[in-house]
Amino acid sequence: MKLYNTLSRQVETFSPIEPPMVKLYACGPTVYDYTHLGHLRKYVMDDVLVRVLRHAGFEVKFVRNVTDVGHLASDADTGEDKLEKGAKKYGQSVWDIAQTFEDYFHYSMDLMNAVRPNITARATDSVPYQLDLVKKLEEKGFTYVIPDDGVYFDTSKLADYGKLAKLDLEGLQAGARVEQIEGKKNPTDFALWKFEREGENRAMSWESPWSKRSFPGWHIECSAISMEHLGEQLDIHTGGIDHIPVHHTNEIAQSEAITGKKPFVRFWVHHNFLLIEGQKMSKSLENIYTVDDLLKKDYDPMAFRLLLLGAHYRSEMNFTWKNLEGAQVSWERLQDKVQQFLASKDQDPEPTEAQAATEQQYRQRFFQQLENDLHTPEGLAIMWEMVGDSELTTEQRYNTLLSFDEVLGLGLARIEPTEELEIPREVQRLLDQRQAARAAENWEEADSLRQQINALGYQVIDTDGDQQQVKKL
Ligand code: AMP
Ligand code: ZN
Repeated sequence: MKLYNTLSRQVETFSPIEPPMVKLYACGPTVYDYTHLGHLRKYVMDDVLVRVLRHAGFEVKFVRNVTDVGHLASDADTGEDKLEKGAKKYGQSVWDIAQTFEDYFHYSMDLMNAVRPNITARATDSVPYQLDLVKKLEEKGFTYVIPDDGVYFDTSKLADYGKLAKLDLEGLQAGARVEQIEGKKNPTDFALWKFEREGENRAMSWESPWSKRSFPGWHIECSAISMEHLGEQLDIHTGGIDHIPVHHTNEIAQSEAITGKKPFVRFWVHHNFLLIEGQKMSKSLENIYTVDDLLKKDYDPMAFRLLLLGAHYRSEMNFTWKNLEGAQVSWERLQDKVQQFLASKDQDPEPTEAQAATEQQYRQRFFQQLENDLHTPEGLAIMWEMVGDSELTTEQRYNTLLSFDEVLGLGLARIEPTEELEIPREVQRLLDQRQAARAAENWEEADSLRQQINALGYQVIDTDGDQQQVKKL
């Protein structure tokens, strides 16, 4: 198995610390608004990663958090709390907002046929553990307090701070790029714990050694939750590319300061963004769409999943409705193929040795692509080639397709055979005549018979191996 590691900026051979166990942590959603198609791209590709690892024989322990507190709108520890903002927008309490949008996230992910993590942990449930970590960092001398503001991490205490993002610390010291907060010793220092301001009246607030009313900084929850459930070192940590310079850089700083510089994460996997019609998703452009928007427009979430699989996770992807339309057509074609296989696979003879070898080659080629840094577009191309290869028996094609789908996750095993159609004798007679006309390469006659069949309310579909199938119109 090979994976691109943001730490080295290279594709590396992946091996976990304690094989076959893989400790995998994914930064979860901030639940203050609807999960949109961009989020779905990130989490569906996480799902593909987990499925590929499991298929390759690893035992993945997959942990994902839910950020339901204290995540300020700006990465620089200033601005409004995102949950408080959501509560105001929807006129509900912060706790209700968090529950509503956590539920919406799970609902969306279920529709995308994503496997749920082994553990889903809410930030609010790990507050005591987070507080312990901040106290430990204080004992170790990594922190300082800015009065009426918060407990800050002193990034100058770590020689390799910023290694993930390859941050230009000297440039940052000049103060050009990061918003300054009064009292911060270095521009890259960040809040571990924040104090409630006078009159702020936050709905979510906890007592801490520094303040009666206070709340965690954003980054500490991921260090705390991952350590609580997976231990001090992770094999893989995933997130969007936007998390590299601040959130993940700070997770590394906190975690390695606590554990004494043991590398916190061995493989950092970062997902690229989804654009909509060439533009960033934003409220002002009114181009934020949810899974329900797809359903309302009669698109199957699996068509969207197929579309996502058509782009590599490290490339920026441009979503267009036209492309989704294309993916919907492909999805219907794939379902039809499965139906054809289901209808005829049981009558197939046993595969010959040559056929078994061909099947083996397809499997090898496909999984090689997926296990090479998740090359899903190449995997899909091999899938289509295999599905249309009449050298294989339909049973071979069906079984191979289902095994590919263990990692693609399109839910093809759920497709049941459509009920046997009662074909009227008149239609059957025309079908037989058409079969004979086709065998005699009398295309004009075959075409005219097709029209007669249509006129009786049936549609003929020509399948591989010169078979005819009929559907009701
Ligand atoms: P948030 O809820 O804002 O913390 O985002 C959750 C995850 O979704 C993060 O890893 C983001 O990087 C990712 N994400 C947000 N917007 C997009 C997008 N348009 N395309 C891909 N990933 C996104
Ligand atoms: Zn995180």
